[in-house]
Amino acid sequence: MKLLLIEDDPDHAELIRSTLKDMDVELVCSGEEGLKRISEKSYDLILVDYRLPGMNGIEFLSKVSGIPVILLTGMGSEEIAVQALKHGAYDYVTKSFNLLQKLPLLINQSIEKHRIKKEKELLEKNLSETKNYLDSIISASADGIVVTAADGRVVLFNKAVQELTGYTQEEAMGRVEGFYFDDEVLKKINKDVEIYGKITNYRLRILTKNKKLIHASVSASLLKEREGRAAGSVRVYRDITREVEMEHRLTKLYSEMQQGHEKLQELDKLKTNFLRIASHELRSPLTPIIGYLDLLNSTEMSGKQRKYIEVIERNALELNSLVGDLVEIIRIDSGRMRLERERVHIPGIVKEILENLNPMQKIIRNVADITIETDRRKLSQVFSNLLSNAIKYTPENGEIGIEVLNRGKEIEASVSDTGIGIEEKDIPFIFERFYMADDPLTRKQGLRIGLFIAKSNVELWGGKIWVESIRGRGSTFYFTIPTAPLSHSLR
Ligand code: ADP
Repeated sequence: MKLLLIEDDPDHAELIRSTLKDMDVELVCSGEEGLKRISEKSYDLILVDYRLPGMNGIEFLSKVSGIPVILLTGMGSEEIAVQALKHGAYDYVTKSFNLLQKLPLLINQSIEKHRIKKEKELLEKNLSETKNYLDSIISASADGIVVTAADGRVVLFNKAVQELTGYTQEEAMGRVEGFYFDDEVLKKINKDVEIYGKITNYRLRILTKNKKLIHASVSASLLKEREGRAAGSVRVYRDITREVEMEHRLTKLYSEMQQGHEKLQELDKLKTNFLRIASHELRSPLTPIIGYLDLLNSTEMSGKQRKYIEVIERNALELNSLVGDLVEIIRIDSGRMRLERERVHIPGIVKEILENLNPMQKIIRNVADITIETDRRKLSQVFSNLLSNAIKYTPENGEIGIEVLNRGKEIEASVSDTGIGIEEKDIPFIFERFYMADDPLTRKQGLRIGLFIAKSNVELWGGKIWVESIRGRGSTFYFTIPTAPLSHSLR
């Protein structure tokens, strides 16, 4: 502990020093010297004699701050002592041998008092900073904040709530909260806050000062004193008018969509019915036509007649295949698609399809020699649809590639061509049924369900189908057939 003793009488100084032998005491003889020292060094406490040459102890006191000071007085100077305390001395002691004995105790007490005073000052400073901080948060908050006392009267009404309700702070302070909404609502809020301690996002309608209704949400919680007694409550209001309007609009939209959806379902039903009837009615006359053509083929005919019959037969078979596609669509729609399983030799099926389609283009084949267990009819449909498109959209001097790779867990097949290709904007949609690409080159060809059927088949067996295409350069369609669960059937 470092002390500064200001005492001009050497005997007194010696006496005091001997009382404080455990402490580090520096001695100076005048107030002026004392001031100089404390400007150079720091001390824990100053002992200053009242009677000094130059400035006396009280004058010295008034020039010092931030260090505890004890005044030393002569006998019978109570009045000076009182004055010293008024000027900020922490204590005083009369210079008599007996009384000086309590000096160490007084010093310790003063230093402790000083420590407590410093702590209190710091706390007060922190508190006031926190309060300022809180005040600025409350006033900057975009949410309306209202604090009420235990009797329900408003004690804080921030800027946002003033803007929300139209009432000024002066108009709101001291009134029972709830003058801008229904009494019943207030009762309900109060009751719930009392029961649950807090409420979150209650919806209510605020009536502003100029009689406008606003949708708002309120969250509130009880403010409690240390002993647990309710000291009031804090409520936070938010303007949700736009959200509520949006909700209304969405609800309306949703119900319109619902209606639209129902209408679409109705139409879909009608369409399926129509397709069912149409395909049935088309197929009925087709079956005898094809049957009789077959019979005719085995009879004697002139070359000319046989040529005519061939034309009729080609067209009848094409019509039959279109009807087949329609039937397939109905089957997909009704969810009645089932996978059959049989052993299928892939190069064999590819060969068969190519023979049927009889392409004019050059065919490049790289087909793995594998047999898998799958739905022959559906696989054949996929290959057929992809290949007939490749043939349809590729000039006769172009090339068509067929590749089937065994990738272990799956088989990856692709059909590529050097034909007209597909516009980038159409690519995401071409697997949709009846999608009509705005494409003068393909506009008039086909029913636009081949790729849809291919996709439905591939997805049914858990594979993927996709296309890569560059307009004017050609397209490659890929699809996969998972083989993992059937790997035992691979040869
Ligand atoms: P479509 O009967 O019209 O061929 P698809 O469903 O088989 O019906 O094909 C849908 C559309 O995708 C076609 O109209 C065409 O625009 C495009 N397309 C399909 N395959 C090819 C291809 N190999 N080259 C270019 N365009 C193709």
